[in-house]
Amino acid sequence: MTSPVWHPFTQHGLGEPIPLVTHGEGAALHTSDGRRVIDAISSWWVTTHCHRHPRIMAAIAEQAGRLDQIIFAGWTHEPAETLARGLTAIMPPSLTRVFYSDSGSTAVEVALKMALGFWANRGEPRHRVLVMEHSYHGDTIGAMSVGARSVFNRAYEPLLFDVGTLPFPAGDGQATLDACEAACRAHPAALIVEPLVLGAGGMLFYPPAVLAGLRRICEAHGVLFVADEVMTGWGRTGTLLACEQAGIVPDILCLSKGLTGGAVPLAVTMASEAIFEAHWSADRARMFFHSSSYTANPIACAAGAANLGIWRDEPVLERVASLGRRQEARLAALSGHRAVRNPRTAGTIAAFELGAAEGAYLSELGPRLLAHFRERDLLVRPLGNTIYVMPPYCIDDADLDRVWIDIAEACDRFG
Ligand code: PLP
Repeated sequence: MTSPVWHPFTQHGLGEPIPLVTHGEGAALHTSDGRRVIDAISSWWVTTHCHRHPRIMAAIAEQAGRLDQIIFAGWTHEPAETLARGLTAIMPPSLTRVFYSDSGSTAVEVALKMALGFWANRGEPRHRVLVMEHSYHGDTIGAMSVGARSVFNRAYEPLLFDVGTLPFPAGDGQATLDACEAACRAHPAALIVEPLVLGAGGMLFYPPAVLAGLRRICEAHGVLFVADEVMTGWGRTGTLLACEQAGIVPDILCLSKGLTGGAVPLAVTMASEAIFEAHWSADRARMFFHSSSYTANPIACAAGAANLGIWRDEPVLERVASLGRRQEARLAALSGHRAVRNPRTAGTIAAFELGAAEGAYLSELGPRLLAHFRERDLLVRPLGNTIYVMPPYCIDDADLDRVWIDIAEACDRFG
């Protein structure tokens, strides 16, 4: 019988097999036909520590025995309070407010609405948003609008709002900074960026100095600076936040994915006191008009609070540093291969382009690479001909070796 399930980013017409996963453990997933699959992309960049971290699983089970769900408009609960307090303790001190939502896309929608609400409530409405070329911020209409126009959203383009696009930083990034300076003179509401690494745009990296420069220019012009750390946050680039490497703090910060260690869906948009204050009033028309049914779900918040406990009590950044070094060594060993172009690492992420073709998402190579990795029980999901490895931090040397051996074979076979 065919399944009624309609999968995301999946062309069902290709008839590719869809494995049934029964359980996860450490850096691996197990399928119903008895295969052990190494999760080399952290199940779409969410699984930070490992699958089923005992502390997060215990927190979920305990919370499930107390309170499953409660409206969050005008009500609160302990896991949401604990997590928010914990976040304000480890994130930059000027980010004093925590707004909950459910995914990276909704964290971005909330950020955009906060930014526009800030200006509207100050009586100086501003609507234009600046973005970086090749960005990806999610798949809802607002998040798509601030992302690159591409095959991902061509069919919906008439619905997307217009934005100002800064060129992706090349070299020292001066052209990007000049473009930002010029665009800021027209008083846009905000700039939204993926700090240091553009993920879905092709694992494109740019230097901290450019990020710091963008922040400086926005500050000088009074333009709100939104950091989308949905992918880069929680240690992925070597530090808790990628922004740290540039020594900057945004006005608004989007977090999701690793917020619960990747166990259950949850997101936060953290904001400075000024953004909160612009909405603070006895006038109900100035409140922040955003919610979803499951805002701050108690079970998800309990998982988030447990994740903060892991960050507090376990040597997470040491694991991140170790994984970064091991990734670097394996990529370096492969970088002499004739088919490997632009090898690069950022923290725990290693990426390169395979072959001469440009890195378009619909590259013909994509499905062949997917099949190659699937046959070898490896979860690697190239972005076109861009191959990247971004595993859970717990991956051991034996599994990491296998990942890179299979990638080397792909280079021999398709390069
Ligand atoms: N922002 C960034 C930088 C992302 O990488 C992603 C997803 O990969 C999103 C936002 C959207 O997150 P979600 O898929 O949870 O909606």
